[in-house]
Amino acid sequence: MRLKYRYATVMEKDTGKSKKIINILEKYSIKYKYEEENSILGFYWSLIFNLYEDFASFKEIQKKIKSYGLLEQISTEFDKEDMDNAEWYVIYALPCQYPQPEEDWEYVKLTFDTDNWCPYCNVGKIQNKPYKLMKEPKQKGNQFWGLFWENDAIFCREEIKNILEREKIQGIHFIQPVRKNNTLIENYYQLIIETVLDKGFIQNNTESIICNRKNYDKKKYKLDLKYCGRVKFAHNQKGGYMFEKRIFFSKSDFCKSNEYFGSGWNADRLNIISKKVYKIIIENKLKGLKIAPIFHE
Ligand SMILES: [Zn+2]
Repeated sequence: MRLKYRYATVMEKDTGKSKKIINILEKYSIKYKYEEENSILGFYWSLIFNLYEDFASFKEIQKKIKSYGLLEQISTEFDKEDMDNAEWYVIYALPCQYPQPEEDWEYVKLTFDTDNWCPYCNVGKIQNKPYKLMKEPKQKGNQFWGLFWENDAIFCREEIKNILEREKIQGIHFIQPVRKNNTLIENYYQLIIETVLDKGFIQNNTESIICNRKNYDKKKYKLDLKYCGRVKFAHNQKGGYMFEKRIFFSKSDFCKSNEYFGSGWNADRLNIISKKVYKIIIENKLKGLKIAPIFHE
């Protein structure tokens, strides 16, 4: 596996900064994407590039660009061996729509049983109605897709539902999303994952966030309720997720982690697939999912 550091600026006013960063990148032969815009408001630029931790001069370059205040995002690229050796995988559906209605997070109460839900940390809601969506998804090349704000929702096309049913994939059923006016969105389905695994997350390199006064400011939420005290994990994306092997005894090919993950308002159980599903995705070249192998100690 390789650790990737992605750096990006949003459009910035020209202060000579872009030239200085580009000089550093060119000195080390780092590829970058630079764009500029000259409008009546002045000269603006943006810059995107990746650094890999296994570069010989990684530390040196990182130190040099640190003072420029670029946005840094860490992720891990897994190699074929990591993928082949794993038995279970975490999946994310790439988001392309927002749940509706968006105003004041109104969709939460319309889509979930919120009896056990905490509005501060967002842990504990249980979906009991179909998602309402603005329209059908447009991503023609993708067979799976997801939602912004709700990382655990996975949708697929009818052809994928047929494949998964034909292959007798265990532990899921399908429901159809609806439009704002409650009519069904034809040919598209949400995968409902039925099995929640036992606790077994191994907390290496992972911050735990407790729902309390220190982490959630009641004033910011404009709410005066009791903190629920539950814990969620903010994984730093350096390396994969690590779980105890003993929790994977289920016959289900799709499962959810017992633990919740996410920082800020994000709180989702991870969606997990078996090797059987992974192979179906690879063999059929199905697109729209990010897949990461699960590691054991
Ligand atoms: Zn809470």
